[in-house]
Amino acid sequence: MARRRQVYEGKAKILYEGPEPGTLIQYFKDDATAFNNKKHAVITGKGVLNNRISEYLMIKLGEIGIPTHFLRRLNMREQLIKEVEIIPLEVVVRNVAAGSLAQRFALEEGSPLPRSIVEYYYKNDQLGDPMVTEEHITAFGWATYQELDEILNLSLRINDYLLGLFTGAGLRLVDLKLEFGRLWEDEDMRIVVADELSPDNMRLWDARTNERLDKDRFRRDLGNVQEGYAEIARRLGILPEAGPRDLKGPEAIQ
Ligand code: UDP
Repeated sequence: MARRRQVYEGKAKILYEGPEPGTLIQYFKDDATAFNNKKHAVITGKGVLNNRISEYLMIKLGEIGIPTHFLRRLNMREQLIKEVEIIPLEVVVRNVAAGSLAQRFALEEGSPLPRSIVEYYYKNDQLGDPMVTEEHITAFGWATYQELDEILNLSLRINDYLLGLFTGAGLRLVDLKLEFGRLWEDEDMRIVVADELSPDNMRLWDARTNERLDKDRFRRDLGNVQEGYAEIARRLGILPEAGPRDLKGPEAIQ
Protein backbone atom coordinates (compact mmCIF):
# COMPACT_ATOMS: atom_id res chain seq x y z
CA MET A 1 0.00 0.00 0.00
CA ALA A 2 1.29 3.47 -0.86
CA ARG A 3 2.43 5.47 2.15
CA ARG A 4 -0.15 8.03 3.16
CA ARG A 5 0.81 11.63 3.18
CA GLN A 6 0.92 13.20 6.61
CA VAL A 7 -0.86 16.54 6.63
CA TYR A 8 -0.27 17.60 10.21
CA GLU A 9 1.10 16.29 13.49
CA GLY A 10 -0.24 17.67 16.75
CA LYS A 11 0.41 16.77 20.35
CA ALA A 12 -2.10 13.93 20.59
CA LYS A 13 -3.10 13.29 16.97
CA ILE A 14 -1.78 12.98 13.45
CA LEU A 15 -3.76 13.90 10.36
CA TYR A 16 -3.22 12.02 7.10
CA GLU A 17 -4.63 12.60 3.66
CA GLY A 18 -7.94 10.77 3.31
CA PRO A 19 -9.06 8.35 0.59
CA GLU A 20 -11.17 10.98 -1.15
CA PRO A 21 -10.76 14.72 -1.63
CA GLY A 22 -12.23 16.61 1.29
CA THR A 23 -11.50 13.82 3.78
CA LEU A 24 -8.72 13.24 6.28
CA ILE A 25 -7.71 10.38 8.53
CA GLN A 26 -7.31 11.32 12.17
CA TYR A 27 -4.88 9.08 14.08
CA PHE A 28 -5.00 9.10 17.90
CA LYS A 29 -1.58 8.85 19.58
CA ASP A 30 -0.88 7.75 23.15
CA ASP A 31 1.05 10.95 23.85
CA ALA A 32 -0.16 13.33 26.50
CA THR A 33 1.09 16.85 27.05
CA ALA A 34 0.20 19.54 29.54
CA PHE A 35 1.29 22.98 30.66
CA ASN A 36 1.99 24.10 27.11
CA ASN A 37 4.17 21.07 26.30
CA LYS A 38 6.34 21.31 29.40
CA LYS A 39 5.00 17.96 30.61
CA HIS A 40 4.92 14.96 28.32
CA ALA A 41 4.21 11.26 28.71
CA VAL A 42 3.03 8.26 26.78
CA ILE A 43 -0.11 6.71 28.23
CA THR A 44 -0.50 3.29 26.68
CA GLY A 45 -3.98 2.77 25.30
CA LYS A 46 -5.10 6.41 25.59
CA GLY A 47 -5.34 6.88 21.82
CA VAL A 48 -7.52 3.80 21.43
CA LEU A 49 -9.87 5.00 24.16
CA ASN A 50 -10.05 8.57 22.88
CA ASN A 51 -10.77 7.36 19.35
CA ARG A 52 -13.66 5.30 20.69
CA ILE A 53 -15.02 7.91 23.11
CA SER A 54 -14.80 10.67 20.53
CA GLU A 55 -16.54 8.52 17.92
CA TYR A 56 -19.36 7.81 20.36
CA LEU A 57 -19.87 11.44 21.36
CA MET A 58 -19.62 12.81 17.79
CA ILE A 59 -22.27 10.29 16.65
CA LYS A 60 -24.48 11.30 19.58
CA LEU A 61 -24.18 14.97 18.62
CA GLY A 62 -25.02 14.08 15.02
CA GLU A 63 -28.17 12.35 16.26
CA ILE A 64 -29.47 15.60 17.76
CA GLY A 65 -28.65 17.58 14.62
CA ILE A 66 -25.31 19.09 15.58
CA PRO A 67 -22.98 18.96 12.57
CA THR A 68 -19.51 17.50 13.15
CA HIS A 69 -16.49 16.61 11.04
CA PHE A 70 -16.82 12.92 11.95
CA LEU A 71 -17.55 10.37 9.21
CA ARG A 72 -16.67 6.97 10.68
CA ARG A 73 -14.17 5.09 12.76
CA LEU A 74 -11.75 3.08 10.64
CA ASN A 75 -9.92 1.02 13.25
CA MET A 76 -8.60 1.11 16.82
CA ARG A 77 -6.71 4.37 16.39
CA GLU A 78 -8.09 6.05 13.29
CA GLN A 79 -11.22 7.76 12.12
CA LEU A 80 -12.27 9.26 8.82
CA ILE A 81 -13.21 12.92 9.07
CA LYS A 82 -14.26 15.72 6.76
CA GLU A 83 -11.54 18.23 6.01
CA VAL A 84 -12.47 21.58 7.50
CA GLU A 85 -10.84 24.95 7.90
CA ILE A 86 -10.09 25.09 11.61
CA ILE A 87 -11.17 28.26 13.40
CA PRO A 88 -8.21 29.12 15.66
CA LEU A 89 -10.22 29.17 18.88
CA GLU A 90 -10.54 26.90 21.87
CA VAL A 91 -14.05 27.33 23.22
CA VAL A 92 -14.28 26.34 26.87
CA VAL A 93 -17.67 25.80 28.50
CA ARG A 94 -17.70 25.49 32.27
CA ASN A 95 -20.37 24.22 34.64
CA VAL A 96 -18.33 23.79 37.80
CA ALA A 97 -15.29 25.75 39.01
CA ALA A 98 -12.02 23.96 38.28
CA GLY A 99 -8.58 24.46 36.79
CA SER A 100 -7.65 27.92 35.57
CA LEU A 101 -11.05 29.45 36.44
CA ALA A 102 -10.85 28.28 40.04
CA GLN A 103 -7.33 29.69 40.26
CA ARG A 104 -8.07 33.02 38.63
CA PHE A 105 -11.02 33.86 40.87
CA ALA A 106 -9.94 31.92 43.97
CA LEU A 107 -12.98 29.65 43.75
CA GLU A 108 -13.12 26.32 45.46
CA GLU A 109 -12.74 23.53 42.89
CA GLY A 110 -16.03 21.74 42.58
CA SER A 111 -18.31 24.67 43.40
CA PRO A 112 -21.12 24.88 40.84
CA LEU A 113 -21.21 28.04 38.74
CA PRO A 114 -24.33 30.26 38.75
CA ARG A 115 -24.70 29.43 35.05
CA SER A 116 -22.60 27.89 32.32
CA ILE A 117 -19.72 30.17 31.40
CA VAL A 118 -18.18 30.27 27.93
CA GLU A 119 -14.60 31.42 27.39
CA TYR A 120 -12.53 31.78 24.23
CA TYR A 121 -8.81 31.13 23.89
CA TYR A 122 -6.72 31.89 20.82
CA LYS A 123 -5.19 28.63 19.56
CA ASN A 124 -1.51 29.49 19.43
CA ASP A 125 1.08 27.35 21.20
CA GLN A 126 3.82 29.98 20.95
CA LEU A 127 1.62 32.41 22.86
CA GLY A 128 0.35 29.72 25.26
CA ASP A 129 -3.27 29.93 24.07
CA PRO A 130 -4.16 33.35 25.57
CA MET A 131 -7.73 34.06 26.60
CA VAL A 132 -9.46 36.44 24.21
CA THR A 133 -12.76 38.27 23.94
CA GLU A 134 -15.23 38.60 21.07
CA GLU A 135 -13.55 41.92 20.33
CA HIS A 136 -10.18 40.30 19.63
CA ILE A 137 -11.76 37.49 17.64
CA THR A 138 -13.73 39.74 15.32
CA ALA A 139 -11.16 42.55 15.10
CA PHE A 140 -8.35 40.18 14.15
CA GLY A 141 -10.64 38.28 11.78
CA TRP A 142 -10.40 34.83 13.40
CA ALA A 143 -14.18 34.56 13.09
CA THR A 144 -17.00 36.88 12.08
CA TYR A 145 -19.79 38.04 14.41
CA GLN A 146 -22.17 35.62 12.69
CA GLU A 147 -19.77 32.72 13.03
CA LEU A 148 -19.18 33.52 16.68
CA ASP A 149 -22.91 33.65 17.31
CA GLU A 150 -23.24 30.19 15.77
CA ILE A 151 -20.25 28.89 17.75
CA LEU A 152 -21.73 30.18 21.02
CA ASN A 153 -25.15 28.64 20.29
CA LEU A 154 -23.63 25.31 19.31
CA SER A 155 -21.33 25.27 22.35
CA LEU A 156 -24.19 25.82 24.79
CA ARG A 157 -26.35 23.18 23.07
CA ILE A 158 -23.51 20.67 23.13
CA ASN A 159 -22.80 21.40 26.78
CA ASP A 160 -26.48 21.01 27.76
CA TYR A 161 -26.78 17.77 25.86
CA LEU A 162 -23.53 16.30 27.21
CA LEU A 163 -24.41 17.33 30.78
CA GLY A 164 -27.49 15.12 30.52
CA LEU A 165 -25.71 12.30 28.74
CA PHE A 166 -22.93 12.14 31.34
CA THR A 167 -25.33 12.50 34.27
CA GLY A 168 -27.03 9.36 32.97
CA ALA A 169 -23.65 7.61 33.14
CA GLY A 170 -22.93 8.74 36.72
CA LEU A 171 -20.46 11.39 35.57
CA ARG A 172 -20.23 15.11 36.25
CA LEU A 173 -19.23 17.26 33.28
CA VAL A 174 -17.18 19.96 34.99
CA ASP A 175 -15.95 21.71 31.84
CA LEU A 176 -15.08 20.98 28.24
CA LYS A 177 -13.10 22.43 25.36
CA LEU A 178 -14.54 22.53 21.86
CA GLU A 179 -13.07 23.37 18.49
CA PHE A 180 -14.94 24.29 15.35
CA GLY A 181 -14.21 24.35 11.65
CA ARG A 182 -15.67 25.75 8.45
CA LEU A 183 -17.02 23.10 6.15
CA TRP A 184 -17.40 24.23 2.56
CA GLU A 185 -20.07 22.58 0.43
CA ASP A 186 -20.20 24.24 -2.98
CA GLU A 187 -20.86 27.90 -2.20
CA ASP A 188 -22.25 27.23 1.28
CA MET A 189 -20.28 27.23 4.50
CA ARG A 190 -21.32 25.53 7.71
CA ILE A 191 -19.72 25.64 11.14
CA VAL A 192 -19.10 22.10 12.40
CA VAL A 193 -17.59 20.56 15.51
CA ALA A 194 -14.00 19.46 14.83
CA ASP A 195 -11.03 17.99 16.72
CA GLU A 196 -12.05 15.41 19.33
CA LEU A 197 -14.40 14.98 22.27
CA SER A 198 -12.48 12.99 24.85
CA PRO A 199 -11.24 13.06 28.46
CA ASP A 200 -8.20 14.94 27.11
CA ASN A 201 -10.50 17.92 26.54
CA MET A 202 -13.08 17.71 29.28
CA ARG A 203 -13.18 17.29 33.02
CA LEU A 204 -15.31 14.38 34.11
CA TRP A 205 -15.73 13.52 37.77
CA ASP A 206 -17.53 10.61 39.36
CA ALA A 207 -20.96 12.07 40.21
CA ARG A 208 -20.99 10.53 43.69
CA THR A 209 -17.39 10.75 44.89
CA ASN A 210 -16.04 13.60 42.68
CA GLU A 211 -13.13 11.34 41.78
CA ARG A 212 -11.33 12.76 38.73
CA LEU A 213 -11.38 10.40 35.76
CA ASP A 214 -9.98 12.73 33.07
CA LYS A 215 -6.66 14.28 32.01
CA ASP A 216 -6.23 15.95 35.42
CA ARG A 217 -4.95 12.53 36.51
CA PHE A 218 -2.00 13.21 34.23
CA ARG A 219 -1.67 16.96 34.85
CA ARG A 220 -1.70 16.48 38.63
CA ASP A 221 0.17 13.17 38.82
CA LEU A 222 -2.83 11.40 40.32
CA GLY A 223 -1.88 8.14 38.58
CA ASN A 224 -3.89 5.49 36.68
CA VAL A 225 -4.66 7.80 33.76
CA GLN A 226 -5.57 5.03 31.34
CA GLU A 227 -7.84 3.45 33.96
CA GLY A 228 -9.74 6.73 34.36
CA TYR A 229 -10.36 6.98 30.62
CA ALA A 230 -11.37 3.32 30.49
CA GLU A 231 -13.82 3.88 33.33
CA ILE A 232 -15.46 6.72 31.38
CA ALA A 233 -15.74 4.47 28.31
CA ARG A 234 -17.16 1.66 30.43
CA ARG A 235 -19.80 3.95 31.96
CA LEU A 236 -20.79 5.10 28.48
CA GLY A 237 -21.29 1.44 27.61
CA ILE A 238 -18.70 1.42 24.84
CA LEU A 239 -15.95 -0.69 26.40
CA PRO A 240 -16.14 -4.43 26.89
CA GLU A 241 -15.30 -5.39 30.47
CA ALA A 242 -11.94 -6.87 29.49
CA GLY A 243 -10.56 -3.58 28.16
CA PRO A 244 -9.72 -1.83 24.91
CA ARG A 245 -8.00 -4.87 23.35
CA ASP A 246 -11.44 -6.40 22.95
CA LEU A 247 -12.49 -3.65 20.56
CA LYS A 248 -12.68 -4.84 16.99
CA GLY A 249 -9.93 -3.51 14.74
CA PRO A 250 -6.66 -4.59 13.22
CA GLU A 251 -4.18 -5.52 15.95
CA ALA A 252 -1.30 -4.18 13.87
CA ILE A 253 -2.51 -0.65 14.46
CA GLN A 254 -2.31 -1.08 18.23
N1 UDP B 1 -8.46 22.36 27.84
C1 UDP B 1 -8.03 21.75 26.67
N2 UDP B 1 -6.93 22.23 26.05
C2 UDP B 1 -6.21 23.28 26.52
C3 UDP B 1 -6.64 23.90 27.71
C4 UDP B 1 -7.77 23.42 28.35
O1 UDP B 1 -8.66 20.81 26.19
O2 UDP B 1 -5.20 23.66 25.88
C5 UDP B 1 -9.68 21.87 28.52
C6 UDP B 1 -9.36 21.22 29.85
O3 UDP B 1 -9.22 19.83 29.70
C7 UDP B 1 -10.59 21.53 30.66
C8 UDP B 1 -11.09 22.86 30.08
O4 UDP B 1 -10.50 22.97 28.80
O5 UDP B 1 -11.58 20.55 30.45
C9 UDP B 1 -10.73 24.07 30.91
O6 UDP B 1 -9.37 24.07 31.16
P1 UDP B 1 -8.68 25.18 32.10
O7 UDP B 1 -8.85 26.52 31.47
O8 UDP B 1 -9.18 25.04 33.48
O9 UDP B 1 -7.14 24.92 31.97
P2 UDP B 1 -6.19 23.89 32.70
O10 UDP B 1 -6.49 23.93 34.14
O11 UDP B 1 -6.53 22.58 32.04
O12 UDP B 1 -4.84 24.39 32.32
